[in-house]
Amino acid sequence: MKTYNDVYLETRRALRFAGVEDAGFEARILLSAAADKRPEDFLRDLRLYPGEDFVQRSKEYLDRRLAGEPAAYIAGSWEFHGLELEINPNVLIPRSDTEVLTDAAIDFLRRRNGARVLDLCTGSGCIGLAVAAAVPDCRVVLADIDRRALMLAKRNALRHKLSQRVLALEADVLAPPARQLGQFDLITANPPYIPTGEIEGLDPSVRDYEPWTALDGGGDGLDFYRAIFARWLPVLKPEGCLALECGEGQSEALRRFGARAGFTEITPFRDTGGTERALTFQGRIQSESDI
Ligand code: GLN
Repeated sequence: MKTYNDVYLETRRALRFAGVEDAGFEARILLSAAADKRPEDFLRDLRLYPGEDFVQRSKEYLDRRLAGEPAAYIAGSWEFHGLELEINPNVLIPRSDTEVLTDAAIDFLRRRNGARVLDLCTGSGCIGLAVAAAVPDCRVVLADIDRRALMLAKRNALRHKLSQRVLALEADVLAPPARQLGQFDLITANPPYIPTGEIEGLDPSVRDYEPWTALDGGGDGLDFYRAIFARWLPVLKPEGCLALECGEGQSEALRRFGARAGFTEITPFRDTGGTERALTFQGRIQSESDI
């Protein structure tokens, strides 16, 4: 008879052999989902003997992973900024790179009380919910064009007991915001930013499984940033902050958009790989035509 630990070691070995980078981590994610346990409970129970259904399910999950499906979709959950979030193929899997933007946003809110936050292209809700969890007196609107993503984001808000301060709103960033939205102290966004022509060349685990609507940023990848600067600044308070994630090599273009829109304080934030991954825009001088 095998213990959970035996299955864990076999799974880890198979993942390693297939070239999965963080094989131990992924094995724990897949097997705790197969056991229907939280990862910490799975680790506690490693010396126990699982039932046959666990053994079957763990094989199925391993096969799916080896066929290229991301562990987050198989397990149906993923951790972001310390929050365990439900994840499904309607949304992008939260990347650790996005914690850079999230930390910058949280840092800005430390100086504000009772702030209103708008998280555009929210997907799973990861940024907005991490902000809501870290800043107890802020109120957050999670916005997305996809209703299925919004339903998921709402479940994630409930799961973390944040729904009293978090609303979900259907909104298309490429169109103007609804008038009744009011103004926000902080707007965050990790919009689709991959140039359309580059999507085919992405890693198959991204290209074949993640939603293209969450990746495709138009011809040069910058369509959503253009729309945010052109249309969404009226819902940012004059003393507010806009915080955007961007792709490699895009930060220069974003600085230009920001400067042209009148922002005087533009701050870049680098990810662990040294790439300028997020920018915050503050100190906006409004032109006559804005007022
Ligand atoms: N960072 C994601 C990737 O490289 C893309 C996310 C996005 O387009 N917002 O796959």
